[in-house]
Amino acid sequence: MSNKLEWSFSALSTLRKCNRMYYFQYLAPSHHFTNSLRRRAHELKKSKSLLMWRGSVIDKIMELEIMPRIKDKLPIDYNEMANRAIELAKRQFKFSEDRLYKVKENSESKVGADYCILDVHDTNVPYKEEDLSKVYSSIKEIIQNIPLIKMPNGSLLVDFLAKATFLIPNLRAWGFEFENVKISPQLDLFMFVDNKAVVLDWKVSESDVSDYSRQLVIGGITVLDTYRRKANEGKGKRLGYDDIRLIEVNLLKQNAKEHPFNKQVVDECVDYIYLNSDDVEMLTDGKPFDQLNIEDFPITDKEGTCMFCKFRSLCTKILLNNNQYHEETYDNIVSAKQPAQLEISF
Ligand code: SF4
Repeated sequence: MSNKLEWSFSALSTLRKCNRMYYFQYLAPSHHFTNSLRRRAHELKKSKSLLMWRGSVIDKIMELEIMPRIKDKLPIDYNEMANRAIELAKRQFKFSEDRLYKVKENSESKVGADYCILDVHDTNVPYKEEDLSKVYSSIKEIIQNIPLIKMPNGSLLVDFLAKATFLIPNLRAWGFEFENVKISPQLDLFMFVDNKAVVLDWKVSESDVSDYSRQLVIGGITVLDTYRRKANEGKGKRLGYDDIRLIEVNLLKQNAKEHPFNKQVVDECVDYIYLNSDDVEMLTDGKPFDQLNIEDFPITDKEGTCMFCKFRSLCTKILLNNNQYHEETYDNIVSAKQPAQLEISF
């Protein structure tokens, strides 16, 4: 780990829920097969519930099929896109069902979009065939309905996207730093429309109350800083707050909303990061993983948090073994019991 502090809202929110969950989610995971605990944490981190999987399949189709067509100004048949999404989902399901992610040669970078780990296979979370059918039909419906989605001003999303230039889906290469904090957000979509830079976030969420504004403001700050640096190098024009728009599109709810981007929201966001950075830094003190002690990351006393924790099976096993991990016993426990039966004793 570098001395720079990697900071994100999701890391902070995990830390607030449970220090041990933060350890499993952000410190332990490694895709290498050399350390079985770290590999197991990696697989659990990657694993998705059926509902999370629905959103990730749609994200992939937006990134790999729909956005490239919009970029190339090609006509789009959304029924065809929906069918492609279902084909992708079925290939992913099979990959997960066959547990091909356990094969060393099948790295995510090598397998590409078909790589998938589902909790129904990985930790035997129970499900019914009708749950699976519902996911497929929901994916299909969401994609078929994209042409109906309206922007906040009443125009159609597809018409807005058709005007885009310099369109980059799933942008991960940009980030910014201040003091010892490094922030590298993932932007679902970056583009210019009507001479404004647009940071657009796709959501597939049932919730009407979730607030994604800070996440989008981070995206806006990233764009602001990237163009400031470009301008300093003589490679482009500097952007101001008014040149950047932040838009959230809920593909499930078929609505879009715009979040404000100005000096006040940027100052508030930066203050929030400063105020909370120490919490993340204090836990690790910049140490590499092999110098961390799992006992320094206490478990939560809130049972409700454990109920929805994807690391529950691993956490239980380690607790039962005096904070040690033995892969064989772990596998026996997971295959012998359904996760709902795995209980943590505090
Ligand atoms: S199972 Fe509970 S204690 Fe363990 S990591 Fe998850 S939330 Fe924390």
